[in-house]
Amino acid sequence: MALLDVRDLHTTFRTDDGLVKAVDGVSFTVEPGKTLGIVGESGSGKSVTCLTIMGLNDRRSASTSGQALFKGADLLAMPKNELRALRGNEISMIFQDPMTSLNPVHTIGRQLVEAVHLHQDVSRSSARSQSLDVLKAVGIPNAERRIDDYPHQFSGGMRQRVMIAMALINHPDLLIADEPTTALDVTTQAQILKLMDTLQKEYGSAIVMITHDLGVVAEIADDVVVMYGAQVVERATAEELFARPSMPYTWGLLGSLPRIDHDVERLAQIPGTPPSLLNPPSGCRFHPRCTYAMSICQSEQPPLASATGSETHLSRCHLDQATRLTEIKKLESGHFAEVT
Ligand code: SF4
Repeated sequence: MALLDVRDLHTTFRTDDGLVKAVDGVSFTVEPGKTLGIVGESGSGKSVTCLTIMGLNDRRSASTSGQALFKGADLLAMPKNELRALRGNEISMIFQDPMTSLNPVHTIGRQLVEAVHLHQDVSRSSARSQSLDVLKAVGIPNAERRIDDYPHQFSGGMRQRVMIAMALINHPDLLIADEPTTALDVTTQAQILKLMDTLQKEYGSAIVMITHDLGVVAEIADDVVVMYGAQVVERATAEELFARPSMPYTWGLLGSLPRIDHDVERLAQIPGTPPSLLNPPSGCRFHPRCTYAMSICQSEQPPLASATGSETHLSRCHLDQATRLTEIKKLESGHFAEVT
């Protein structure tokens, strides 16, 4: 059984300008101990998808339908107190900005000990020793001394490590990470991704990694969901996605990645801007930006269907198989920057 099974998730926000469909029929699964990368530009619905699953949307303006089955229990139908008991215990979240999770007026030791006591009935000294262990596990040097420091006394990368420690302290089965490395320099970003990979093996947690960067997905993910305009537009194992990406938006994301095996003077960019979710384009939501768009693309929304004959590789696109294969070959040979 999947650890998390999201089925036909919809989230709509009431705004002064009208209804914003921020998540529109999203489905995916996360297997125990595996990493799912959810990738897309900002406003694609990836973060709202996860906030919805965690019950963290503003309930006054958001309405939700569908299911998010965690170990078989629907998180969307769960009473608030049960959901609160799961958060920080069986499911944890880390965010781009650690200061959203860390309290600036308490030492990190105090915050870690409190996190332990929220979910475990242990003595103070046991909670403190667990806190020290997890700080060491995330690579905080001089953890015995630094446990009594305040968040502002840590650098950005070290604060991110502290937040990962906070998320892992109760050994969650599922860790949802929303752009955890975006604000960090490239070297620190690589260190944090490596750390998450190591800790995942040690703690056995599954990870949902939300990112705009396919490079991050390539580093860490077993499975990938590509989102565009509040919908899933491609879903595959990481191996399948990088070997045979099957629709133009994913080609665009890949074309904007630097590659060490090809000399490209300028990285390709996807032209245009992401669609309005107040009034999304008809047909395929990507058609106003797609260089392959045909007349059917403006009128008919492509279904999410098998792209390559594989049951695990689905995409939304009206292109025929021959055109897709030709374009994938161009991508492989490095000509891709010219076709987006
Ligand atoms: Fe482009 Fe049409 Fe495919 Fe959409 S369905 S990605 S517009 S070719």
